[in-house]
Amino acid sequence: MDSAVQSHLPFITSPFPFVQYSVVCLDDLLCCVYLCLNQLGPAYQGLELGVGETVLMKAVAQATGRQLDKIKAEAQEKGDLGLVAESSRSNQRMMFAPANLTAGGVFNKLKEIANMSGNSAMNKKIDIIKGLFVACRFSEARYIVRSLAGKLRIGLAEQSVLSALSQAVCLSPPGQEFPPAVLDAGKGMIFYVKYYSGHEMPNYDAIIPVLLKEGIDQLPNHCKLTPGVPLRPMLAHPTKGVGEVMKRFDEASFTCEYKYDGERAQIHILENGEVRIFSRNQEDNTSKYPDIISRIPQVKKENVRSCVLDSEAVAWDREKKQIQPFQVLTTRKRKDVDASEIKVQVCVYAFDLLYLNGKSLVREPLSKRKALLRESFEEKEGEFVFARSLDADNTEAIAEFLEQSVRDSCEGLMVKTLEKHATYEIAKRSHNWLKLKKDYLEAVGDTVDLCVIGAYLGKGKRAGSYGGFLLACYDEENEEFQSVCKIGTGFKDEDLEQHYNFLKEHILPKPRPYYRVDQSAEPDVWLEAVQVWEVKCADLSLSPVYKAAMGLVDPEKGISLRFPRYLRIRDDKKPEDATTGSQIADLYKKQQQIQNQGKKQDLEDYY
Ligand code: ATP
Repeated sequence: MDSAVQSHLPFITSPFPFVQYSVVCLDDLLCCVYLCLNQLGPAYQGLELGVGETVLMKAVAQATGRQLDKIKAEAQEKGDLGLVAESSRSNQRMMFAPANLTAGGVFNKLKEIANMSGNSAMNKKIDIIKGLFVACRFSEARYIVRSLAGKLRIGLAEQSVLSALSQAVCLSPPGQEFPPAVLDAGKGMIFYVKYYSGHEMPNYDAIIPVLLKEGIDQLPNHCKLTPGVPLRPMLAHPTKGVGEVMKRFDEASFTCEYKYDGERAQIHILENGEVRIFSRNQEDNTSKYPDIISRIPQVKKENVRSCVLDSEAVAWDREKKQIQPFQVLTTRKRKDVDASEIKVQVCVYAFDLLYLNGKSLVREPLSKRKALLRESFEEKEGEFVFARSLDADNTEAIAEFLEQSVRDSCEGLMVKTLEKHATYEIAKRSHNWLKLKKDYLEAVGDTVDLCVIGAYLGKGKRAGSYGGFLLACYDEENEEFQSVCKIGTGFKDEDLEQHYNFLKEHILPKPRPYYRVDQSAEPDVWLEAVQVWEVKCADLSLSPVYKAAMGLVDPEKGISLRFPRYLRIRDDKKPEDATTGSQIADLYKKQQQIQNQGKKQDLEDYY
């Protein structure tokens, strides 16, 4: 083995006995990182196992010789097929003990499963799972089944894996004999690993070889922003009013842009002329938008060889020449769209340029990025347009522009710094971008995205379906769903029917162990956390009943939403992407600050 690599023995502890040894080579480290993260590769490659719960149960049943019904019933009761698999293992009898599992072996089998397609794919997948399963020792079956089900739940968030990785490579830089002489090359470097893996190059296949062979300080030279590799987008902080914007930005120059209500489209033009489009969550949406792809050559100027631009794709009515609501966009097919069959047209509203002709622009101020954007593309009505903007500096002009944005079917404004503190902050909800939504100025400043975990049976007009629902935020720290409110308003009759039909397929006999709910708020039926809803509310209050952000603002109380109102399903968010406990705590603290300022102002006015 390569001695530079050998001198790196990052030690990663995990629930897999086959991952618990010192990791001795590049491939092993890569597999271990992916196994711990329950991923098969970077998100944009879109590799999925494609193994449903029923198939997994079948595989467990076949591998253990138990009846499928029994496995199903036990899984319902325990709420964890992994535990069922583990406890079923003792029933097997084998002539020869199979070889012990290894990290690389397991990871390759998972990839093999993901790459299978065609008629007999499901049976082949079951065979591989059975093969893995019979070789399991100790608690391996539990974690392999959980990995296959996509719910590893080992209390290891990506940030912790990154910290472990960076610490390991900082403590023993490459190029030394074994055992390494240098044992602490500076903890500040941890930042680098986090920065480059989460930001410029979100791909461990590219980062880990550099870490092991070249060293951590070489990351910026090898892992650069590259067209074709999607970036996690910069996001905005909510604000409650124009006054707050003026206060936050104070002396800084800023611009106000329309906040379009569509889907984020990160458009990449590669050196070879190929165009790729990625979603907010780095999914490859290229085949969803053949219409956008085909118009790029017409709107891009000749000098553009490669670039990454940030934009919003918005449903567009060609006859009336106007923006259509977000709901219209959601009716568009998601994959393999045939350009001739497109019914919902989209207009691209471009608002940022992150890369141009071989150079990353993320460290340039927004003013420069916008200037380059305008120099590099030209507008085409209803197809490709620059986000409408106003460089205002007084409250009245901004308030008027906000009103105008809503009249033009937008959600409100995005207010962005132009010169100072105006770089593009990849993967960050930054204070240099503020969102100002008209609807919520009187409410908490923004909507929240919550996961449905229970339902209450309807009465009167709603008898026979669900009349209300229990919603939860997601707490990343504890990997749990924390109850935040009951909701019963904002639903049209069709919404209630749709929710009933969908959710009744996800009923649970009892709450999952990772649901935090007070007895007094228990719903009539528990539901699997499968869907996220966007909700608006009047304000937030401390609550002895609800568990959101428990311990973050008050040691004993959680936070609840008052007067929540249903807005829509957020299909683009997974349950774990719901608003987090700490975001709820931030919204609450902000609301308190504003209320206190209001009171102070009232008192000052009074005296
Ligand atoms: P939500 O989708 O509920 O607005 P979010 O958390 O997904 O919230 P925000 O930070 O609120 O994202 O807003 C950023 C989103 O707004 C972007 O992901 C983008 O899709 C959209 N958007 C529309 N117009 C603009 C614009 N001019 N500049 C930046 N983002 C914009």
